[in-house]
Amino acid sequence: MDIIDERRVYIQSLDTATFNDAIAALDVLRLDTIHPEISGNKWYKLKGNVVAAISKGANTLLTFGGAYSNHLHATAAAASLHGLKSIGVVRGLHAAENLTPTLQQCTELGMKLKFVSKEEYALKEDAAYLNSLRTKYAQAYIIPEGGANEEGRAGAASIASLIPESYSHICLSVGTGTTLSGIRNALPADIQVMGFAPMKGGKYLEETVRPHLSEGRPFKIFDDWHFGGFGKWNADLIAFMNSYYTQYALPLDVVYTSKMMFGIETLIAQGYFPTNAHILCIHTGGLQGNTSVQHLLSF
Ligand SMILES: *Cc1c(COP(=O)(O)O)cnc(C)c1O
Repeated sequence: MDIIDERRVYIQSLDTATFNDAIAALDVLRLDTIHPEISGNKWYKLKGNVVAAISKGANTLLTFGGAYSNHLHATAAAASLHGLKSIGVVRGLHAAENLTPTLQQCTELGMKLKFVSKEEYALKEDAAYLNSLRTKYAQAYIIPEGGANEEGRAGAASIASLIPESYSHICLSVGTGTTLSGIRNALPADIQVMGFAPMKGGKYLEETVRPHLSEGRPFKIFDDWHFGGFGKWNADLIAFMNSYYTQYALPLDVVYTSKMMFGIETLIAQGYFPTNAHILCIHTGGLQGNTSVQHLLSF
């Protein structure tokens, strides 16, 4: 698996004097640096799936996502790098009319897009529907939306080995919660794990994640910083991203990591963390999704 070089990951420390030393450390695990297209957590969730697909003799990766899905994009790139074909089942027939930059890049990477109605998309975990896809695409290995399967969680768990013991709080963005599940299981129980949801009402993720966790593995989901909903943003968020880049040379993505850092900064200002907190934020990547706001960004 040396097509992707995981040694590119590193930890960047932010200057805590900015926060009047309200916390002891605020560091960022830069998973965004491993590859320009399969960045961040997406590679960790896909790698076991790529191995499984190849060992099963499949020649195609088939997966599911919306018009802004980083997972679709990463799957298209992973397939192309490993000599596999890819098929993306895309939520919503209207998505075919005006391809988003993400879907455009998927097709450039060789992914065949299959647009389905919201009703059909809702069957993405239905056994009969999956069987019909298996019959139709006999050479395909099917990966659930967001890479949310055993291989995905196992790959996410391997991120925990990149986390030094000195941290008291681990913060990350959540979409399907697959990455959080994997990491939470693999870390000692007394480390606080905080998930930041980029969509409205994201607290439901507590129920999605819990069945995948071992006993006594606490975590919290915060859903206050959704900025209007999944994929939504406003001028404050853009200004925040630009200031982060100016101050720390840290590029954030508009869908996930910018909302997480905004939330963390707000919690620090509110005195949520103890002054001896050593916080590690996971940069889960997603920078390709900034194409739609590129004209507003200074990086
Ligand atoms: C997909 C994605 C997430 C969410 O990961 P899940 O495992 O689905 O919770 C978080 N951050 C970024 C940048 C992503 O692209």
